[in-house]
Amino acid sequence: MSKRLNALSTQLDAPLLVTDLTNVFYLTGFESSNAALLVQPGGGATLYTDFRYVEAAREVSDVEVELTKRTMMADLGERLKGRVQFEADVLPYVEWERLSAGRAKLVPTHGLVDGIRAVKEEEEIAKLRKAARIADRGFEALTAETFIGRSEKEIAWRLRELLHAHGADDLSFDTIVASGPNGALPHAHPSERIVDRGTLVTVDWGVRVDGYCSDCTRTVSTGGLPNELRRAFDVCLEAQKRACASVKAGMTGVDADAIARDPITDAGFGASFGHGLGHGVGLMVHEAPRLSTESTDTLQPGHVVTIEPGIYLPGVGGCRIEDLAVVREDGVELLTSFPKELIEVR
Ligand code: ZN
Ligand code: ZN
Repeated sequence: MSKRLNALSTQLDAPLLVTDLTNVFYLTGFESSNAALLVQPGGGATLYTDFRYVEAAREVSDVEVELTKRTMMADLGERLKGRVQFEADVLPYVEWERLSAGRAKLVPTHGLVDGIRAVKEEEEIAKLRKAARIADRGFEALTAETFIGRSEKEIAWRLRELLHAHGADDLSFDTIVASGPNGALPHAHPSERIVDRGTLVTVDWGVRVDGYCSDCTRTVSTGGLPNELRRAFDVCLEAQKRACASVKAGMTGVDADAIARDPITDAGFGASFGHGLGHGVGLMVHEAPRLSTESTDTLQPGHVVTIEPGIYLPGVGGCRIEDLAVVREDGVELLTSFPKELIEVR
């Protein structure tokens, strides 16, 4: 039985029906758009899928394979009985209805596989490191080109080409290019806005390599900045560096967040940093754990997280600086390496 399945089964006191397709992939290496995995306490697992994928499923080792109808939860409702745990955060209500129409007694669980998946094996970290490096190189090539006079959309598209040329399989999410006042929107979509002189441009991008995601943000300038914006950048950079120097295993997500949040608040920008410090990254670009004022997580060695404070000034602009980091016993190892000090682009 695989190490991952084993780690999960030892945590169970009743069978767990895994329906999150990324979790199914993580546990078995099986990729499909319709599958579920029933993992037994103490070992043994059954992989369910429909006709389209069943031949591929038979290649998976360590699992029994059962063919189901395409409406899988209705079918499983008729097969399963006794206590069956399910992933309450991802099973849609209608699927829960279908499943619960059968004989099984359904028990909700939260984040069982996600907790295991959050702690990366060194092999996974190597893939994340590779993704981060490709992302760095693509962006480095972009900064050698012109920003001023190009639209945000055009820059985002050009970065995509450069990332592809440097070896990315795909983007891990839609690139954000936010210039001038658009920088005040943490999740701005690249617009037709033409990048101006004398402002900040925030670029948040990531690639997928060998199934693993990268996530990085840099904020660059297009020349002399308004004082408030320059100060916001300096405060954000100091806070980000402070978090990179202090975050380590054993710390709660709340405490990690506070390392960057406190100096930003002390500088008077507290209300302008409205999101958490970071999130886990792996097979998905947003996964466990969370670093925020609302987090319930504690950092463990092998967690891979972003460290991304931002300051957003409505009508003026904004900045965010984001690194991808492996949590170690005594600190973090950064996977992103492009300089984060303010650079000026043309
Ligand atoms: Zn990002
Ligand atoms: Zn992020």
